Amino acid sequence: MSRMHNISDIQMSTLMKWFDVHKRTMPWRGDSNPYNIWISEVMLQQTQVKTVIPYYNRWIRNYPSIEILANSDSEAVLRLWEGLGYYTRVLNLLKGARYIIEHYNGKFPAVMNDALKIPGVGEYIAGAVLSIAYNLPVAAVDGNVIRVFSRLFALDKSGNINKTIESIVTDCYTYYQPRWVNQAWMEFGALQCVPKPVCSVCPMNASCKALKISKVLNYPVKKPKKKTPVRTGRIYIVQQNDTVLMLKRHRKGLLAGMWELPNILEDEEKHTDFEQKHSLKPMECIGNVKHAYSHFKVVYQVYLAELLKTWNSAGWVESTWASSEKLQLLAKPKVHIKALKQHGMFFNS
Ligand code: SF4
Repeated sequence: MSRMHNISDIQMSTLMKWFDVHKRTMPWRGDSNPYNIWISEVMLQQTQVKTVIPYYNRWIRNYPSIEILANSDSEAVLRLWEGLGYYTRVLNLLKGARYIIEHYNGKFPAVMNDALKIPGVGEYIAGAVLSIAYNLPVAAVDGNVIRVFSRLFALDKSGNINKTIESIVTDCYTYYQPRWVNQAWMEFGALQCVPKPVCSVCPMNASCKALKISKVLNYPVKKPKKKTPVRTGRIYIVQQNDTVLMLKRHRKGLLAGMWELPNILEDEEKHTDFEQKHSLKPMECIGNVKHAYSHFKVVYQVYLAELLKTWNSAGWVESTWASSEKLQLLAKPKVHIKALKQHGMFFNS
């Protein structure tokens, strides 16, 4: 393992002093319950702390333990997650809780290889839970940590950058406890060494290689970006008395198990064919809604539509006519909430 890059004891004590002063208060900070750390880390993937806090508090109130979560159903967990996005993550949390009950006697394992067998748990989540909850000497390398070390040591993309960083972080455990070392580097990346940092106030600026060569914004070295494809389609709002037609998606794939309005993406089926198959008559376009997923963007035209015959649910698990009250209880993807909000009548909050 490379020993070309090391953090000195002076740098470490500088970091820990900075962390003492600047660390944010979070409901899970200082907590050593592995379940709570697991939940917080899954929620924090690609979502900011301030957004996560109310979701986390609500989640822990509803599911205070792995056992209670394992006994819940996907509909209920999806509802609590609504708005956080990345819905396969919450379904994996449920599967993970059941796996832990079945294989690890209800306790998140304190061994890396065992933790990696839990559905949805990758190296970062496992490292975060094992180090923060159990104080084990395991690095947790997220995007923030990669940014910090790429800059401190002007690391390029050659070799396995994650392994290089893990090795540097692991050396830091000589000076301080793993749980605090990992949290301090994560927080430093989240608050100080941000994408556009103010290096003049950084306590590490004297030893930062990227700053020394005036190339801070060139690190981390990025892979050339692929253009995100944009998919287009239609969403249909079909009313019957005071209700709206909602459809439940299959249990697998994108947005699994969620409830949505009838919709079609043009690259899957022509809207004219879809409308004919489902006896839908588009009446009026009330606007567009957009959403960005990890690998593509969607732009839907939102149509008020009439149903000419009984709804044919092919393509969905089930359908329901939802009143405004019932609609609030269904777990819905963000883009469909946007469409309903455009309509206004069914969804005001
Ligand atoms: S000097 Fe700037 S680039 Fe270097 S660690 Fe500090 S904030 Fe990051």
